[in-house]
Amino acid sequence: MVILALFDIDGTLLRNNKAHVDAFEVAFKEVYGVDANVFMIECSGMTDQLIIAEVLKKIGVSEEVIKAKMPTCLEVLAETFARLIKVHHVTVLGGVPELLSTLKSSGVKMGLVTGNLEVIAFGKLSTVGLDKYFELGGFGSDAVQRVEMLRIAIAMAKKKYGTVDKVFLVGDTPRDIAAGKDGGVITVAVCTGRFSEEMLKLNTPDFLFPNLADTKAVMKVLLGPQ
Ligand SMILES: [Mg+2]
Repeated sequence: MVILALFDIDGTLLRNNKAHVDAFEVAFKEVYGVDANVFMIECSGMTDQLIIAEVLKKIGVSEEVIKAKMPTCLEVLAETFARLIKVHHVTVLGGVPELLSTLKSSGVKMGLVTGNLEVIAFGKLSTVGLDKYFELGGFGSDAVQRVEMLRIAIAMAKKKYGTVDKVFLVGDTPRDIAAGKDGGVITVAVCTGRFSEEMLKLNTPDFLFPNLADTKAVMKVLLGPQ
């Protein structure tokens, strides 16, 4: 049986993405000539492209201009991030390395579903040695909507492994849970991002953990009772 566990990054595997946040600010200024930042909207769980579009829309930039300069903006975002990640380190959330290592040795296949551009996603993970666990994924560079990224990741897994019997999506925001439900996969919510247990419960994930520190408990959900 092929089990696929797909993980969000920010607030699920890692914390502190100052390099990413600051890179948006630089890209807004350099490409669109505006003073803006990601805190102008509630962007948890949004893809990078959607964050750019929504922030700019909010401050009155026309959709035409947003669209025309988007490819350049994504380039500047990625370049700036690559420079800043050397200065602002990310923090791995408790239990994550142990969980990924246990999943790997149990034969569970792992992938990413993150709104980060692919280079940014692997840029963050490689600084803390976690990139080696992920062979596929759906990224913010592939799609604007989260459910599309999920579908891309599943399609890649099916191609790679021949079949996929069970898919889990692990994430920290209502948008992760909603995408998982839309995509027909099993949803696992973790409260290590900006959302409390009470808030995430409202979105009725299939499973909910305070964090990923209890490897045994998470493994039990993913592998079923042994
Ligand atoms: Mg997240």
